[in-house]
Amino acid sequence: DLLANKIAAGEVVERPASVVKELVENALDAGATEIDIELQQGGLELIRISDNGSGIEPNDVPTAFERHATSKIRDDKDLFRIATLGFRGEALPSISAVSRVEIKTRTEDSAAGTFLRIEGGKVLDTGVTAAKKGTELIVRDLFFNTPARLKYLKSIQTELGHTTDYIERMALARPDVAFRFFHNDRMLVQTSGDGKLLHAVAAVYGREIVKQMVAVEWQNYDYRITGLTGYPELNRANRSHCTFFVNGRYIRSYQLFNAVQAAYHTRLPINRYPVCVLHLELDPSLVDVNVHPTKLEVRFSEEKDVFASMQAAIQSALQTETF
Ligand code: ADP
Ligand code: MG
Repeated sequence: DLLANKIAAGEVVERPASVVKELVENALDAGATEIDIELQQGGLELIRISDNGSGIEPNDVPTAFERHATSKIRDDKDLFRIATLGFRGEALPSISAVSRVEIKTRTEDSAAGTFLRIEGGKVLDTGVTAAKKGTELIVRDLFFNTPARLKYLKSIQTELGHTTDYIERMALARPDVAFRFFHNDRMLVQTSGDGKLLHAVAAVYGREIVKQMVAVEWQNYDYRITGLTGYPELNRANRSHCTFFVNGRYIRSYQLFNAVQAAYHTRLPINRYPVCVLHLELDPSLVDVNVHPTKLEVRFSEEKDVFASMQAAIQSALQTETF
């Protein structure tokens, strides 16, 4: 029902960046290899996401906006997965409860696409339309019917910053996906999707920085660490930019950052800071992802091993570095 949707929306949708996150995750779930994200006024006025993923079957379009109606929930195992990963089938119902949404979608097999317009959780119009394969979602006037929420949004610049951070992380996490990110018709991020981390890092941090980075490629029995690291002369914002992914998921870890810094030891010139993008892969049973409600933090069962491995990985990359 509408009220339940509106209340639950508060848990899923905090700000434009959380809408972008949910919609980009849906596009990735649908197997998209090209994702365009467009914001107007930091996303307060408009958020548009289009993808070249599987699209949605005509009959499934209205269902996708109904709470817990998602096909992903089939049995107890799915419920467990939902509880742990947050796949709850709530994003579209929640977002559409607090905004004006338009969806246009077409699957490979359908001759025509489907559109649906829904405002504050009420379907206004639906029908057949021309559409390319994939899905386009437009979210306008976020929180138009929840003034209390609207009041808590920050400035356009701050809201834009949250989305930009998220898009940059996704671009680094998924070099195999071509992202384009526009704000007020200006393109802020563009990646090629060719699968090369080097190219994704160049797109996010700039070509000059990449030239001053070295590849990290290290593994032992338990851990595999890959990516790029450096302490470039040209450092955007003149501070540290270290991004860590654990089994493909972005995490925040002060300790991993310390391990990187420890590896640089005395090599770091004054006023220079490490910039790195590192993927750590390990057996999922060795990492607890449910420590923090927003799931940006994790706990490793063998913490000392992980940090020692990170330090060793960076040190070995630095040894092969040619000056
Ligand atoms: P969940 O992702 O947890 O299943 P959502 O509310 O985010 O729930 O999406 C509901 C359903 O709508 C998804 O399960 C999926 O079937 C469909 N869907 C949403 N976005 C897309 C998309 N971009 N491409 C294809 N299907 C989508
Ligand atoms: Mg989803």
